[in-house]
Amino acid sequence: MEVKVIGCSTTWTDKPVSCYCINNKIIVDSGEGTLKYYKQNNVNFLDVNNIFITHLHTDHFAGLGAYISQVLVYEDESKKYRLSIYGPKGIKKALNILAQNFACPTINKKVEDYINVVEISSKEQIIEVENFKIKPFILNHGGLTNIGYVFEDFSSAVGFSGDCTYDENVKEFVANTKVAFLDCCSEKTTPSHMGADKFKYLQQCFPNKRLIATHSTDEFILKAKEYDIETTYSGKKYNF
Ligand SMILES: [Zn+2]
Ligand SMILES: [Zn+2]
Repeated sequence: MEVKVIGCSTTWTDKPVSCYCINNKIIVDSGEGTLKYYKQNNVNFLDVNNIFITHLHTDHFAGLGAYISQVLVYEDESKKYRLSIYGPKGIKKALNILAQNFACPTINKKVEDYINVVEISSKEQIIEVENFKIKPFILNHGGLTNIGYVFEDFSSAVGFSGDCTYDENVKEFVANTKVAFLDCCSEKTTPSHMGADKFKYLQQCFPNKRLIATHSTDEFILKAKEYDIETTYSGKKYNF
């Protein structure tokens, strides 16, 4: 499978925030302003029919406004449910707030009448799209629910943690991957984010897995080499 990193930074940088693309067809997270980087990465957002959102912070989901208006304003009735959006409990309400107040306030339509919105509340809700089996994991982001997703196909199992602190569920998430894009914000783990300390611990637990740090601060990216932690950057393309 091909993975493009469209964005992987924290909010307070000049770089794009969270957004990944699989096989030019599936998006994982679409933070504020990420849509304008699609072209640079040769991704056409009209080819994207499935979007997976980890949690409802703006740096992970506020870029969905343009998708919503594309479907509600520009596509005709025959395109109803072309697009599916998966995310944590509350995403239906959040998407309607985004549509009615910001994306297309003059269009009086309910998002769920035109877009297949799937709220995930359990790890048993396994999804199958585009020849992938997608396993959700409920992770803790400072008390806020964050869904980590593992995309399995014949060749690999690639996980995207979103934002989370360390707990046993993260360990189980990593155990289900071959490659994991993992939140590693800074040196020390906090109640909201993992740090290099727990990232190193996971590397020790799973020496045969490739763990790639994301959502890192600019300061931490400069230090990551000292910790022997692999980082990534916007525009990077992988084949797993
Ligand atoms: Zn967050
Ligand atoms: Zn974030």
